[in-house]
Amino acid sequence: MGFLLFSTKKPGVMVSQSLIDKVSFLPLNVPLKTAFGIAGGVQASAENVLVKVELADGTVGLGEAAPLPAYNGETQASTLHALERGAGKLVGLEASGLRPIAKRLTQLFPHAAAAQCALETAVFDAFCRQKRMSMWSVFGGSEKNLESDITIVTGTVDDAYAFTSRYAEQGFQTFKIKVGGGDRSQDLERVKAVRDAAPKGKVFLDANASLSARDAIWLVKELEKVNILPLFFEQPTHKGDWEALFEVANVIAVAVDENVTTPADALHAARLGPPHLINLKIMKSGIVNSLDIAAVARAAGMGLMVGGNVESILAMSVSAALAGGLGGVAQVDLDTPLFFAENPFEGGFTMSGPHITIGDSPGHGVSPRR
Ligand SMILES: [Mg+2]
Repeated sequence: MGFLLFSTKKPGVMVSQSLIDKVSFLPLNVPLKTAFGIAGGVQASAENVLVKVELADGTVGLGEAAPLPAYNGETQASTLHALERGAGKLVGLEASGLRPIAKRLTQLFPHAAAAQCALETAVFDAFCRQKRMSMWSVFGGSEKNLESDITIVTGTVDDAYAFTSRYAEQGFQTFKIKVGGGDRSQDLERVKAVRDAAPKGKVFLDANASLSARDAIWLVKELEKVNILPLFFEQPTHKGDWEALFEVANVIAVAVDENVTTPADALHAARLGPPHLINLKIMKSGIVNSLDIAAVARAAGMGLMVGGNVESILAMSVSAALAGGLGGVAQVDLDTPLFFAENPFEGGFTMSGPHITIGDSPGHGVSPRR
């Protein structure tokens, strides 16, 4: 695709209007209302990066990198460094070819998934805006309404109770409880506190690859004794340790997160089959890889989860478009904009309690606040 025209910049030269003309980026620092604690550490503020891509006809697309050191070691500094080295290499490429772009990005940024995601998003956003298409429709246009869980971050038992109460009052029904990285008895008490604060709520656990199979199974068994049956256990065991993951999967459904970043990883996870899930995240896999991982998961009869790092409404709107576009996503985990003390953007999905509504705007629909 890509319409041909005479460029206004170089009179007489035929230039596709969807060629990438400029790429720029800047740090995006936003304070959080509630620090985001997971097993690997605590993020006190969002230290992200905003990427801007401009096409030959002046159409602008935006992407967000949300590196989360506690998740996979990527930082704002490492992301900026990767972009300084590689972002310029996109200039002159055709924005209409999302798959060739994604392939090129994988070569350019082998260890900077968040940077890759931001560039891929910005290029795709620019192209969608130019063609007046929403990402949601390109992803398949299945559902405009989603229901998100809310994350109960690591902390004290009292924190877990208070936070759950606050969000239960707002209508949240599913509580994702971060466990691991500390005392396992305290995790047990935290889960009980969530149940006490929201007796009708559903819960699931996420250890962010921090537990041994033994400790993960211990926690599940202890919860069973007090009649708490989590929906599933997200990435209980160490990254890459498939044996430990399969051991836990004999006891409770698992959602595979850290273990799956590529379609080849998904093929590995596919041996789990149903009722297990794979967690899609653009920030670990990018857009094209997420679509391919979803295809593998579905072919294996596995459920899908869509989540993210500590992302603003920008990246999260891309993930909402992905979830709503694919349709039938078992677990929507797109709550981090609620942790932001301020929203630097306008547009994107709207949220009322746990209910997300995806808009019709071209691209992801998010622009800087004017
Ligand atoms: Mg996770």
